[in-house]
Amino acid sequence: MEGYHSKQVDVDVRLNTNESPFPPPDGFRDALATEISRVDWHRYPDRAVTALRNDIAALHDVDAAQVFVANGSNEVLQTVLLAYAGPGRTVATFEPTYQMHAQIARVTGATVVEGERGDDFTLAPAEIDRVLVEHQPHVVFLTSPNNPTGLVEPRERVEQLLAEAPGLVVVDEAYSQFAEWSAIDMVDETRPLVVTRTFSKTWSMAGARLGYLVGPTWLVAELEKVVLPYHLDVVKQLAGRVALRFVDEMNERVAMLVAERDRMSAALRELPVDVFDSGANFILFRPTARSGAVVWQELVDRSILVRDCSGWPRLENCLRVTVGTPDENSRFLTALADIVRSQPVSGTDCDPTARKPIT
Ligand code: PMP
Repeated sequence: MEGYHSKQVDVDVRLNTNESPFPPPDGFRDALATEISRVDWHRYPDRAVTALRNDIAALHDVDAAQVFVANGSNEVLQTVLLAYAGPGRTVATFEPTYQMHAQIARVTGATVVEGERGDDFTLAPAEIDRVLVEHQPHVVFLTSPNNPTGLVEPRERVEQLLAEAPGLVVVDEAYSQFAEWSAIDMVDETRPLVVTRTFSKTWSMAGARLGYLVGPTWLVAELEKVVLPYHLDVVKQLAGRVALRFVDEMNERVAMLVAERDRMSAALRELPVDVFDSGANFILFRPTARSGAVVWQELVDRSILVRDCSGWPRLENCLRVTVGTPDENSRFLTALADIVRSQPVSGTDCDPTARKPIT
C-alpha cells in the first residue's frame, strides 16, 4: 500500500490543506489557558467525554448519546470502519473523493468498491443503484461538500442511499458549515446513518485533532466498544468545549471565507481554467492551456502552495486551492493569472491533458 501524503514545501502562502487561515479568537486562547491551569494532571480524562458530548449535542439539538468524539474526524472514520468494515466486508466510495475513506477501509482488511462520478464530478442516481445492487456494501460513504471537487450533494442522494443501501451510510461533512444544508437532521434511531464533522476547518483547530459524529445511540454504543480507553485527552476535551463558546465568531469567519470563495471563483472564471462549483473552503480548477503540474511548480516558484491533484486518477491536470485570507487569495489570483496567460516554454507543458509535464 501507498501512504496518504500532502507534499509540504516551505512557502509564504500555504493554500494546500484546507485549514482555516485564521487562528482561533484571542478569547479562546485565554479561556483555554485558564481551564488548563485547573487540570488534574495525575488523573485519567473523563473516558465518556461527557461534558464535550453534551455541548456538541446542544449545538446540533440532538441527544448526547448520539454523539461520538475522537482525535480528528479521521479517527472517527477509523473507528466506524473498525466496527463495521474488516475482512469479508465491502466498503463503497464514489470517486474522486476523500482518499482516506478507501485507505482506512483497506487497512481494516475490507474490500473497497469504487463508484464513478461523471466528468463534471456529479453523482448519477443510476450509479448509486449500480454500486448498491452489484456490491451490497456493508458501508457506503458520501462526502458533502466533496473533497477535492467541492461539490455539494443534493439531499436526494442521501435519501436514495438511505432507501436502498443494505448497510451503514456515512455522510462526511468535514466542510458542511461552508455549504447550505446538512444531513444531521436526517439522523434518527431507526436509520443506519452517521454524519461526521471536524473542528479542523471552521473551528480553526486543525492543530488540536478533534472531530465527531452524530448517529443513532445504538451505533455510538458499538463505537465505544472499539475505541481505545481514554483516547481523548483532557486538554482536547477542554479545547473543544471552550471553542464552542465562540460560535458567533466562528460563524463570522465562515461568512468571510464563503465571500472570499465566491470572489475567487468569479476571478478564476475570467482565466483560461475550468472551475468547479464549490460549497467548501477550497476550489478545484483545471488549467486549459497549460499543464497542471507545471502551473503548480510555477506557483511554488512564487512561494504559493496549492494541492497538486494533477496526477490523481480522474483528476488529470487539476489543482485545488484552499480559501485563505483576502491578501493570500489576491496574491494567488495574481500569480495564477500571470502563469496561465503566459506562453509555455516550448516542449515543457503543451499537452493540457497530460498527467505529468511532457519533458
Ligand atoms: N473528511 C474530509 C472530507 C476531509 O477533507 C478531511 C481533512 N482533509 C477529513 C475528513 C479529516 O479531517 P480531520 O481528521 O482533521 O478532522
